[in-house]
Amino acid sequence: MDIDNWIAAVLALRKAKRVVVFTGAGISAESGIPTFRDADGFWQRFPPELYATWNGLLTTVVTQPLSVAEFVLNVIEPVAKAEPNSGHQAIVRMEQRVKTTVITQNIDGLHQSAGSSEVLEVHGSLLEVSDTSAGKLVRRFERKDLMRIADCLHQYTSKKQSAETLILELQQQYPFDWMGRHRPNVVLFGDGLPEAVWAKACEAVEECDVLLSVGTSGAVYPAAMLPDNAKAAGTLVVTIDPQPRSGCWLEGDAGTVLPKLIHDTFEIQN
Ligand code: NAD
Repeated sequence: MDIDNWIAAVLALRKAKRVVVFTGAGISAESGIPTFRDADGFWQRFPPELYATWNGLLTTVVTQPLSVAEFVLNVIEPVAKAEPNSGHQAIVRMEQRVKTTVITQNIDGLHQSAGSSEVLEVHGSLLEVSDTSAGKLVRRFERKDLMRIADCLHQYTSKKQSAETLILELQQQYPFDWMGRHRPNVVLFGDGLPEAVWAKACEAVEECDVLLSVGTSGAVYPAAMLPDNAKAAGTLVVTIDPQPRSGCWLEGDAGTVLPKLIHDTFEIQN
């Protein structure tokens, strides 16, 4: 750990009136949700053009229904089982000391489960189903609802159940609309970001004094623009990631570095 970067981060956070925490898949890795880029060959096994665009998915489900079921299972089961980790919890403690906005690329709902009160989900949430034509929320899932869907998918992928039975069972769990308008409220490749949420995220970045960027490769745009925008405005960007980063980089896992940073900044007794 670079001690100069650590001191710079602590001092800037102590002075800050507003902080943005910008998170990616890495913050949830210690909750058991694999990052797609680190997970062995996830995108090789499920090429994004076939599985991570709506058109790709609708085509692939007709030609390779079993592999779509495996893809969905790989995505939803870890989220269904996950609990917030010490990184998510440290952000909640920081909110008690300084105005904190969480902007997350994650779709796992773990910041809210931990207790963060201002969370902007720029890529949506796997725990919500929305009506794409009306632009409104149709259903909010609990993690146990996702687990029931995962159980149905397991029965099918292990060939204990036919596709027809799977569809009948899923109808009990998911608010289907046969026009295909009820979709998980997640942003896939090629989709626009939810406009109001994105506008609030840009505003929070403009107004913050420090931006903590945690567990993101910065490869997915436009979300990855946010730390760049902050830097361009002269705001200190502190990056927490095990992989090397330029600038004020704090090396390590979010579940270790964030609690220590919040402790050294706000909780240390003189
Ligand atoms: P990414 O997979 O591109 O990058 C993950 C980053 O996290 C890497 O830089 C890696 O070094 C770092 N990392 C790994 N373990 C870490 C740890 N314990 N602590 C801190 N950092 C750690 O993820 P991305 O930049 O978020 O982009 C991928 C897209 O896929 C995003 O939209 C993302 O939200 C989505 N996704 C979401 C989830 C989720 O909701 N939990 C999981 C996988 C992918």
